[in-house]
Amino acid sequence: MNKVIIIGGGIAAHTAAIYTARASLQPLVLSAPEPDQLSTTNIVENWPGTPDGILGPKLTQDTKKQAQKFGAKYILAKADSFKVLKNSFEIIASGKKYAASTVIICTGASSRKLDIPREKEFWAKGVSTCATCDAPFYKNKTTVVIGGGDSAMEETLALSKFAKKIYLIHRRDEFRASKLMQDKIKKLPKDKLEIILDFIPIQILGDKSVTGIKIKNVKTNQPKEISCDGIFLAIGHIPNTDIFKSSLKLDKKGFIITNKKSETSLLGVFAAGDCQDSLFKQAITSAGVACQAALMAEKYLEGR
Ligand code: NAP
Repeated sequence: MNKVIIIGGGIAAHTAAIYTARASLQPLVLSAPEPDQLSTTNIVENWPGTPDGILGPKLTQDTKKQAQKFGAKYILAKADSFKVLKNSFEIIASGKKYAASTVIICTGASSRKLDIPREKEFWAKGVSTCATCDAPFYKNKTTVVIGGGDSAMEETLALSKFAKKIYLIHRRDEFRASKLMQDKIKKLPKDKLEIILDFIPIQILGDKSVTGIKIKNVKTNQPKEISCDGIFLAIGHIPNTDIFKSSLKLDKKGFIITNKKSETSLLGVFAAGDCQDSLFKQAITSAGVACQAALMAEKYLEGR
């Protein structure tokens, strides 16, 4: 029986691990093998105390190291089920059972997909969600980025260092990305970036590899084909909360509902980060709420 199990492998999980480890609760962290969102990000410019910015993978790895320094134990295992027992909770992760008196859920969110024809076929073979990881494969090639948020701007900037041409396609006539990020892409050379507004993707085109994308104007229904070698999706994220559906209260979009103290609908279970935050979705807010969750878990255990 563990005192605390933390489920997740991102900045929220590592922060909760630092706090619970420093409180001598010997947390066990169950992290899925998939990379957390910061690990697929490039430079993070809004993490306090880093005037020159910090690389996303470094930030997450250093935070994990800090948790390990205080005694947090990590196991690479994907949580497949969550069960409420009489006085504890049971998690099955990669086939093994783990039990704990309290659980902090930091399962984050996964990239949303388009769900259009041939997307599955070309997934990770020309269609992907991480330009930071894959941009070097597109040296002097033509790429497409789909989305209008900060991630789409970030993907465009990452690709601009390698690709000869980028089409940034968004479904509305204005971006939701911050002004700062929009200003950055506006500085790209005109022949490198072409912005296509009011279009949605309807089909990936290709033979053995991706050769293009078919899009449709949302106002006129007029279709159009763009030739390209790679397509990057930056259309938001879906919270990883499936295994908690039957035991915790979730909102309509699947985010875990928590109160101001990071408590979920189940006594002894706390949640932090992108699995419960549909509003801010920032590294700093994830870490902040994870700190709250850890402090409340400690209080809960003291009370028992
Ligand atoms: P986001 O802000 O939710 O943006 C998703 C974008 O995808 C929106 O523009 C949305 O269009 C579009 N979209 C959604 N579903 C679509 C579909 N089926 N087809 C076509 N387009 C679709 O997600 P995000 O950009 O990943 O950002 C998430 C959070 O992380 C934000 O809070 C952001 O500020 C933060 N972030 C910050 C940085 C940074 O500061 N460096 C970098 C990355 C992310 P609509 O606009 O029409 O809804």
